[in-house]
Amino acid sequence: MKGFSPAYLEIYKTGELNRRIAKAEDLMESCTLCPQHCLVNRFQSRKGKCNSGAYPIVASFNPHFGEESPLVGSMGSGTIFFSNCNLKCVYCQNCDISQFGYGEEISYEALAEIMMRLQNSGCHNINFVSPTHMIYPILKALPVAIERGLNVPLVYNSGGYDSVEILKILEGIFDIYMPDFKYGDDTMAGKFSNAQRYSDIAKSALKEMHRQVGDLQTNSEGMALKGLLVRHLILPNDLAASWRVIDFIATLSKNTYLNLMDQYRPEYRAAEFSGLDRSLSHSEYMKYLEYARKKGLTRLD
Ligand code: SF4
Repeated sequence: MKGFSPAYLEIYKTGELNRRIAKAEDLMESCTLCPQHCLVNRFQSRKGKCNSGAYPIVASFNPHFGEESPLVGSMGSGTIFFSNCNLKCVYCQNCDISQFGYGEEISYEALAEIMMRLQNSGCHNINFVSPTHMIYPILKALPVAIERGLNVPLVYNSGGYDSVEILKILEGIFDIYMPDFKYGDDTMAGKFSNAQRYSDIAKSALKEMHRQVGDLQTNSEGMALKGLLVRHLILPNDLAASWRVIDFIATLSKNTYLNLMDQYRPEYRAAEFSGLDRSLSHSEYMKYLEYARKKGLTRLD
């Protein structure tokens, strides 16, 4: 891509990528790849909270035109949707994939092949959706794809429940981080997503991502080259503590690219939870948008 030289090529050439793979492999044996810390051996069992073993499980892949505009351009973002998730959101809009495991287990080579097919079809980046529990398979596939000519930016599109220890393994590999910051309140995160200490953990993760890649940079055509984009799905009745989310983002950097998402609708088990059982109103959304502007955030999607 114009104006882009992938850092992961350097990491590959120096042999550092193999060292990173070895570190991830160690963490898989008593899994602490994410803050759920299930301590299961992923080479022998799928009994962790993400129900995943050592191989990639892919639900779908395609050029995607619904992502943020700096990722999409004219040819789309090369999106790979992994099955399962390290979060258990009761309102998940993709619960067949994230909670019921729809998808196919494939080899590392097949994952590399998918990456190449997306790049060869003209996609501007490879966008790994729900990568946190799939870090090891992604790293295993990467050298194969690099050998075959991979050269577009890699996007880490996570739920924000990522540990700093793992993110350090990924430094220089992912050019673009696009985490959710789902909740500004730990109680809500525990209740609705089964994620303990989510808010603190996501804050630490976002700080580390920002340290690595900084604010979003684009080329002359407006395409994302490197940096951080943050997504926040506003829940009705302030159940995501969105004020606190916005406060934190504004502190991280006023130049943060923030997508405040208004498309919440009650799906999956949402009707069981008081307050989650209706869509977001337009006036609720506008309140948060105005607040983000007031806090000095200008790159709002
Ligand atoms: S990646 Fe999966 S098995 Fe590992 S700690 Fe997270 S949820 Fe548990």
